[in-house]
Amino acid sequence: MKNYSIRQRVLVTGGAGFLGSHLCERLVVEGYDVLCVDNFFTGARDNIAHLLGNPRFELLRHDITFPLHVEVDQIFNLACPASPIHYQFDPVQTIKTSVIGAINMLGLAKRTKARILHTSTSEVYGDPQVHPQPESYWGHVNPIGLRSCYDEGKRCAETLFFDYHRQHTVDIRVVRIFNTYGPRMHPNDGRVVSNFIMQALQGNDITLYGDGMQTRSFCYVDDLIDGLMRMMYGPHGLPGPINIGNPHEFTMVDLARAVLAQTDSRSQMVFQPLPSDDPRQRQPDISKAVEYLGWGPKIQLTEGLRRTIEYFRSQISQVDSARRQ
Ligand code: NAD
Ligand code: UDP
Ligand code: UDP
Repeated sequence: MKNYSIRQRVLVTGGAGFLGSHLCERLVVEGYDVLCVDNFFTGARDNIAHLLGNPRFELLRHDITFPLHVEVDQIFNLACPASPIHYQFDPVQTIKTSVIGAINMLGLAKRTKARILHTSTSEVYGDPQVHPQPESYWGHVNPIGLRSCYDEGKRCAETLFFDYHRQHTVDIRVVRIFNTYGPRMHPNDGRVVSNFIMQALQGNDITLYGDGMQTRSFCYVDDLIDGLMRMMYGPHGLPGPINIGNPHEFTMVDLARAVLAQTDSRSQMVFQPLPSDDPRQRQPDISKAVEYLGWGPKIQLTEGLRRTIEYFRSQISQVDSARRQ
């Protein structure tokens, strides 16, 4: 169907989730017409409540494992639970979302000739044997473990994106996101940043898995969204895959100390068993993002943690005052 609208119509799947809600907000601010599609498995209406009255924003409850017929100019495909607790809750639905969801969104992109960006993950590298991880590294993934529904689902989705690109000339963009944190993370999703902050603010023990010496590199959400926008709208013409993440690497013990210091908490660190297939270290090689997108993270851990702690503090006080009423 011909587009008579001057504004570009953008579909964001998983738009009510952590990253999706920040992306919808950024797109609305930049003047796009946004259609947010979400089945609310891990997303929340609260994340997008402030956008609901905006004429440029529309919300549709829908599961992308079923076909979707809408007219759009660009698609950001974010739908998929991202934290181990959530994606392991119903592993078959997780892999269906990655694989069948990708087929449906690629079919939609093929029909509408929309450009489609897929949010893949650093998990495609598995427990990496190359460090830091460049996009050319093929990964070290267990195909039958507890994390496989997510890791292999995401790997298969990447394959589908590149096959639709080669076979049907679909205009694709694939981004591999490394650990990202910030306001609107789910407080109970079991991810390390939300866990540590909630534990510190509530005076509970800080749970370190294993010896706490495994490393991660955390990117603040605003930097990540900027990377997604550059990947979708930049003049580079690159299908990807491209790593987006903050290369500053630290151990989980370092993270716990930083959270304790910034919250003024007296919580104690306790050590618990390491979950299976937990990667030992992870750090993105972002030279491609720097070269092709002119992108690099701007917000470092101290500032990012400050903003995230402020968000969780206000969430806790809202829950407390609701309880008192
Ligand atoms: P999230 O769980 O907050 O958001 C995912 C959203 O997708 C939720 O709103 C959920 O309800 C929705 N959803 C799930 N299955 C769906 C389905 N079948 N149909 C429609 N909607 C569905 O997670 P997030 O952190 O915002 O992650 C967004 C994307 O980024 C995911 O694809 C994830 O794999 C990827 N990613 C995130 C990170 C990170 O650190 N946050 C890292 C790597 C990759
Ligand atoms: N699809 C969709 N919306 C569209 C076009 C297609 O959800 O606007 C779905 C369609 O139901 C199909 C999938 O996308 O299951 C793949 O579409 P494609 O055209 O590649 O395959 P085909 O329909 O030929 O199987
Ligand atoms: N982790 C931890 N304590 C927690 C939650 C997580 O020590 O309360 C560890 C976890 O074992 C992993 C790292 O922190 O080594 C990052 O975990 P997360 O689930 O946030 O991300 P991912 O493993 O997917 O990178």
